[in-house]
Amino acid sequence: MNSRIEVFLGDITTLHVDVVVNAANPSLMGGGGVDGAIHRAAGPALLEACKVVRQQQGECAPGQAVITLAGDLPAKAVIHTVGPVWHGGEHHEARILEEAYRNSLNLAAANGYHSLAFPAIGTGVYGYPRAAAAEIAVNTVSDYLTRKPLPERVYFVCYDEENARLYKRLLTQRGQET
Ligand code: ADP
Repeated sequence: MNSRIEVFLGDITTLHVDVVVNAANPSLMGGGGVDGAIHRAAGPALLEACKVVRQQQGECAPGQAVITLAGDLPAKAVIHTVGPVWHGGEHHEARILEEAYRNSLNLAAANGYHSLAFPAIGTGVYGYPRAAAAEIAVNTVSDYLTRKPLPERVYFVCYDEENARLYKRLLTQRGQET
């Protein structure tokens, strides 16, 4: 049993965790979906922080992750990662999605953070099929946590019940506590 993973049904911007992960786009300049929700809740300081990152290192490539302050969010930091745009599955989408999860976990751990919340990266406008994306999320995070002490706790934040059921089923199959 791995009680370090939990499924949360609701809005990721309300969570009191160390790190909220944003499903950003390469520009880091905000967008729709969860990205828009995070920027709205965090306020203008988040966009300013993203602009600084952008000036320093340019766009964020798919699979990569960058960290900023969290503005007005209850979280301490936001990690912005970019998922793959779904082009049918033969364009390294799975590898890029895996990297997005792993690089986010690495960045949180490198900054000493203990708790982190992921949205369902790539499954909105980027079009990744939900079941396949959930499987990658659960497998990548579970494997990571068996090897590393940080983050201690990871939340999979689902915006609807169907997705929450999907994650819970996958975690149960792996013998992970939810
Ligand atoms: P992407 O561009 O990576 O596909 P989206 O933001 O379009 O990202 O969607 C990613 C997922 O985030 C979708 O499953 C969507 O339902 C979910 N989502 C949207 N708003 C929120 C929110 N406030 N909290 C948590 N999840 C959200």
